[in-house]
Amino acid sequence: MRSLVAGNWKMNGLASDALDRAQAICAKAGDGLPCDVLVCPPATLIGTMTRAFQDSGITLGGQDCHAEDSGAYTGDVAAPMLADLGCSHVIVGHSERRRDHAESDALIASKAAAAHRAGLVAIICLGESATEREEGRASDVVSAQLAGSLPPGATPDNTVVAYEPVWAIGTGNTATPADVAEIHALLRQQLVAALGEDGNNVRLLYGGSVNAGNADELLAVDHVNGALVGGASLKPDDFWAIVSAGRSA
Ligand code: PEP
Repeated sequence: MRSLVAGNWKMNGLASDALDRAQAICAKAGDGLPCDVLVCPPATLIGTMTRAFQDSGITLGGQDCHAEDSGAYTGDVAAPMLADLGCSHVIVGHSERRRDHAESDALIASKAAAAHRAGLVAIICLGESATEREEGRASDVVSAQLAGSLPPGATPDNTVVAYEPVWAIGTGNTATPADVAEIHALLRQQLVAALGEDGNNVRLLYGGSVNAGNADELLAVDHVNGALVGGASLKPDDFWAIVSAGRSA
């Protein structure tokens, strides 16, 4: 299946530097996209970035959405608002939101369902903590997160699952290809059990300190259908090296 490389800019960027970054990425995309490419800027920049990436083939996504379509939720962003700005995807359940906003699997499933109602692809993030891995519970934790975070009605067209071990995010510590292979095989098996044949076609991304130097190796692992990239997505050259690794994955 065609790979997806998604950049998560997190809470980084003002219009001026984001426009420079978008321009640098678009210059690279000018030669064609070797795989599907998604950029998830901060919500404040999505409108500006939709215009900046216009005609590049690169799509835009949100970093989170509310579980409701509208209402009295000060400061939150609803999935239809992201769609209205031109987004195709939204990340839900990123470990930083699970940690900083105490988001539960049930809430994440509701957010993914909201994304689906708005016509967005939900990128559902999962991953164990360092302690959970040390205690030998990584598979159980990730499996429980998938069971709890996947909404009814998930299909390969509206859902992507990203395995992001918490201890690998922003730390420079990457999971070994063997660890990634083990978890991705488990997630694939579970998706097939839940969705039947469709489970084979849901993209599974790996995320956690993916960079220009390790992307080839990580993207070559079985059942890795792309990457979710944080820090390196802020550097156009590095991001494009990862996108290029998606070519052969
Ligand atoms: C992320 O935040 O989704 C992520 C993978 O970050 P980083 O690439 O910086 O580890």
